[in-house]
Amino acid sequence: MKKIAIIGAGYSGLSIAALLAKYGYYVTVFEKHGELGGCAGYFSRGKDTFDAGATTLSGLRDGGPFRKILDVLDLDVDVLEVEDGIRIISDEHELIIGNSIDSTIEQFNKVFPHFNSESFWKQMKEDQDRALNLVSNLSYIQFPSVENISKLLTTELFSKLRALPLITKSFYDVYLKPLNASKEVEKVIDEILMISTQSTSKDVPALFGILGVMYPFDLWCATGGMKSLMYELKNLIKRYDGTIYLSEKVEKINLEKDIFHIETAKRKMSFDYVISCVPNFSLENIVDGGLKRQLNLNVKKTLKKWSAITSYFVMDTEEEIPGTYYQFLISDAPFGKSRSIFVSLSHIDDEVRTKGNRRLVTISYHTDATEWKLNERDEDYKKAKECIKLFCERSLRNVFEKYKITQIRNTAVGTPLTFQRYTNREKGFLGGIPYSLSDPLFLHQRTKTSVSNFYCLSDTTIPGQSIYSLSLSSLNLLGYIKKVSLI
Ligand SMILES: Cc1cc2nc3c(=O)[nH]c(=O)nc-3n(C[C@H](O)[C@H](O)[C@H](O)COP(=O)(O)OP(=O)(O)OC[C@H]3O[C@@H](n4cnc5c(N)ncnc54)[C@H](O)[C@@H]3O)c2cc1C
Repeated sequence: MKKIAIIGAGYSGLSIAALLAKYGYYVTVFEKHGELGGCAGYFSRGKDTFDAGATTLSGLRDGGPFRKILDVLDLDVDVLEVEDGIRIISDEHELIIGNSIDSTIEQFNKVFPHFNSESFWKQMKEDQDRALNLVSNLSYIQFPSVENISKLLTTELFSKLRALPLITKSFYDVYLKPLNASKEVEKVIDEILMISTQSTSKDVPALFGILGVMYPFDLWCATGGMKSLMYELKNLIKRYDGTIYLSEKVEKINLEKDIFHIETAKRKMSFDYVISCVPNFSLENIVDGGLKRQLNLNVKKTLKKWSAITSYFVMDTEEEIPGTYYQFLISDAPFGKSRSIFVSLSHIDDEVRTKGNRRLVTISYHTDATEWKLNERDEDYKKAKECIKLFCERSLRNVFEKYKITQIRNTAVGTPLTFQRYTNREKGFLGGIPYSLSDPLFLHQRTKTSVSNFYCLSDTTIPGQSIYSLSLSSLNLLGYIKKVSLI
């Protein structure tokens, strides 16, 4: 049986390990941290388990890639649909995006009476299918060859889908400008896109903008949070005789006569394949000289900018708070670099996490890692965390006080340093590749590398809303190695 090493037990590592294990490969996963999940990880305080980073799942509708992962692996993860999408809250208005196209149009019409919401949202719905079709063909880009690329360009699909402008023009130029969208409409759209694509409407190619704007219509969470998803993947890997070594950082990888040798502080092992599921800039530090030259990793193209500030709360209210995901449009978050904060509540029906009106809250927002100068030992670091905590608590009170808050307790605050420590990402660089017109997708590191049997699969090889994109990527890679098509 072929032996495959997988570096990193974030979602990419665990999903590809589970797929390969199920399809007959012998997988060994190495994870530096003591827990699973990486950026989609979790942590516990007392009996409460918080999602540390990612909270939302998407790609479950209409044979989407995450649905395929659940089906192919027959995973026993109970997913709850967040039927009312995302609630966008600002001082001036409250909007719900994503429960249905008609109600989203209705909400938009009330808040933005001068914008042709009907035309915009109906066009989004119509073009979503074209975009999904094209994105399913991303495997052509992940595994480039003359044959593959020419296949993509000459497919009936490509011309039939009138794909070129969707790739070469911005979302703003294709969809917002023709409708004379106001600055206010643009801001709402931009803040959704910042979450799903790490870009804004003027920078994101129209194709990915459609998917980014439509993600609130395909929004889910796992009962028990990310922990239950990661545990199910782990259990499946073990059931198929795979091994996961936790708290074992891969220190070195080299290649001798088609065999890869991997070293951790505790062991040296040999493998037929390596799948790096860590960001390319982390991989660069562990591949040995000769292999590094052969791999010729395209790290310079990975944007190293974004990180996140996070804050975690337990909140009790007398009355039930509606919905699960909120985006507060606020520009003055401490260290914040976007104009909103994303607030995830545990799903009201998720009794594994909380009961009644008690909700676990994860707040996250963008920060610029390159500007983060504080060190954990600095007195100012403690002050910064206190300031973040107070800001987040105040924001929660402002929006949720009407449901009569009886308790609100902060359990932790995360900074780029926290992500650096728990995900081993240099400076806490997060979020992978933003979709950007100035930085075309095909210039980035691909999953297939120049070394046979060495693959890169992480959010630095495929852009976007990650669990969605990484699921697609994992299915593509399994298909490529196993020569089967699961898409
Ligand atoms: C705050 C935040 C909120 C987000 N929200 C969402 C969301 O709601 N929905 C969504 O779909 N996506 C979301 N994302 C994005 C998503 O979480 C990530 O893109 C995705 O989880 C990345 O997975 P990965 O496996 O590629 O990388 P990582 O999660 O970084 O996993 C890499 C793993 O490799 C380990 N590792 C690193 N170096 C080594 C080494 N040398 N040896 C062994 N192990 C090593 C790390 O410890 C880590 O566990 C969010 C991200 C953040 C930060």
